[in-house]
Amino acid sequence: MTEPVNRTPLIAGNWKMNTTLESGVALAKNILEGVAAIDAGFSTPGWEIAFYPPATSLALVADLCAGFDACDVLVGAQNMHAEDSGAFTGEISAEMVLSCGAGSVLLGHSERRHVFNETDAEIGAKVKAAVDAAITPVLCVGEKLEERDADKTMEVVAHQLEAGIEGLTEAEQLKTVIVAYEPVWAIGTGRTASPAQAQEVHGFLRKELGKAFEKRGGKAEDRETIRILYGGSVKPDNASELLGETDIDGALVGGASLDAQSFLGICEGSN
Ligand code: PEP
Repeated sequence: MTEPVNRTPLIAGNWKMNTTLESGVALAKNILEGVAAIDAGFSTPGWEIAFYPPATSLALVADLCAGFDACDVLVGAQNMHAEDSGAFTGEISAEMVLSCGAGSVLLGHSERRHVFNETDAEIGAKVKAAVDAAITPVLCVGEKLEERDADKTMEVVAHQLEAGIEGLTEAEQLKTVIVAYEPVWAIGTGRTASPAQAQEVHGFLRKELGKAFEKRGGKAEDRETIRILYGGSVKPDNASELLGETDIDGALVGGASLDAQSFLGICEGSN
């Protein structure tokens, strides 16, 4: 029998191309103050939070979060290049992310895949570069509406997962990855996957992770250590139902992460 693993829920805010230096710092400050107030009250937060601000405020937000002790805070970039340096105008490297004091990166977000046409191979190379640099990658996968309608959801997410982790040859490397399931049809649309729909895909992804661990010389049970976040129109009023599912270990939040009260409401829903 597999021992149940206690995976601390992670509530992550993807700010996308929103917030200036001033408004981003104010948003992070308001959220941290809210978390500290919860910590000072009855309940110690049973969750961790993450901020993915625009690259322009990464260093300031990371600095603000350093030393915050009411809960663990991860700060990360929304994307990065797989190469160390060079003629890649507009891009940032793993070393630059680290030099901002950040420790994570979103990779393969649906907007990167479908607006900027990033390929599976590029995303896989970025995941490897992040892990090699000891940066925690959040590998996003998710099907488009037409793929769901054609019953291709599992095929699509299995392929995206496999390609995303292809460069990780050791089980220990795989353990450092966070996965986010974000159905494209639920991102920024106000449509959310039902808890049962989301759980079905999360459970499937966890099984796939078991196979991936075995392929890398690890144990299938190692899949239980991986956090799989759900993303797609998560709000305070649907968070607790979604996060109540066995294999949903947190949320990747876009729109609702730009308002401190909404973000805190989602955090509280994860308890
Ligand atoms: C996202 O961009 O990762 C996301 C889930 O956005 P939203 O919460 O706005 O749907």
